Amino acid sequence: MKKYWSERIQNLVPYTPGEQPKDRVFIKLNTNENPYPPSPKVMQAIGAVEDSALRLYPDPEATALRQAIAEYHGLKPEQVFCGNGSDEVLGLCFYAFFFPGKKVVFPDITYSFYPVYTELFGLDYEQIPLNEDFTLPVEKFLGGNGGAVICNPNAPTGRTLPLSEIRRILHANPDAVVLVDEAYADFGAQSAVELINEYPNLIVVCTMSKSRSLAGMRIGYALGSAELIAGVNCVKNSFNSYPLDRLALAAGEAAIRDVEYFERTRTMVMHTRERTAQRLRAMGFFVHDSNANFLFITHPDKTGEQLQQGLRERGVLVRWFNKPRISQYLRVSIGTDAEMDAMCAACEDILKG
Ligand SMILES: *Cc1c(COP(=O)(O)O)cnc(C)c1O
Repeated sequence: MKKYWSERIQNLVPYTPGEQPKDRVFIKLNTNENPYPPSPKVMQAIGAVEDSALRLYPDPEATALRQAIAEYHGLKPEQVFCGNGSDEVLGLCFYAFFFPGKKVVFPDITYSFYPVYTELFGLDYEQIPLNEDFTLPVEKFLGGNGGAVICNPNAPTGRTLPLSEIRRILHANPDAVVLVDEAYADFGAQSAVELINEYPNLIVVCTMSKSRSLAGMRIGYALGSAELIAGVNCVKNSFNSYPLDRLALAAGEAAIRDVEYFERTRTMVMHTRERTAQRLRAMGFFVHDSNANFLFITHPDKTGEQLQQGLRERGVLVRWFNKPRISQYLRVSIGTDAEMDAMCAACEDILKG
């Protein structure tokens, strides 16, 4: 069956995306999508794209979008790279900055796409075990490697490393790139973006899929020194010159410029998260402190699988990872207050049984 597959991909295990059900309506708390629609200005901007413009290729450099992102973060446009979702940006960064024979380090429990990229690109890597409480053993990231990847806040735990610790890691790895994946930083973590002009080895990867409600548009970006960004561009232009289409470029610019809407919706998500955490703790769940738009929870009376199945039967989708160390946990995305009330009620029902 794999006769014509190249040797490179014979044993490749690809990433498994969360389920997008088509058969029935669920309360969907399994892929960390935002429960609120994007800024109304996004649809206005998409509507303003002239249909005749779609005949033409988009701006390969995403000039206007990069300008808007640069202004928002207080950086220069040459410090911004835009790609087709941050998954693509991450892949391009892995290719640009890491090299076979030089070991890349990341935690054992983190975004499961990282080992997929390292395998795809034939990189050497080590998955450093997180501490028992899922905090990061910072000492193990202090030098002697060919790159480090830190998801902050971490997925799927929601735990955050303070900026002082990120700084220590950057300081200890002057000859290697430290990639900080901030997919969830807008939900309450301190961003490492403010360290970019101080550390030429820092690259921060962001996405509009979570805090800006644009998972369906596929917009991600990287921020770093002009030299690092030029490196990512070199890989991108060797692979696909036009990763963002005209609608995505317009949508992304409108989303990043609507600061008021962004602040309002991310505050709502954070508020619902704290309210939900409290309610789950009252039911006997152990709930990790989270700075993301999800909670990582476990209950002494039910297995992770029982909880996931029970919720599914009651119309609620959550993510369960059948993996060592975390198989008793569920990752529950934060929806609206009403969705979280329904999720909590379903949990109460399961625990009663
Ligand atoms: C969701 C997520 C991404 C990918 O986001 P896209 O921009 O939708 O590709 C990257 N990293 C982490 C940790 C994520 O959770």
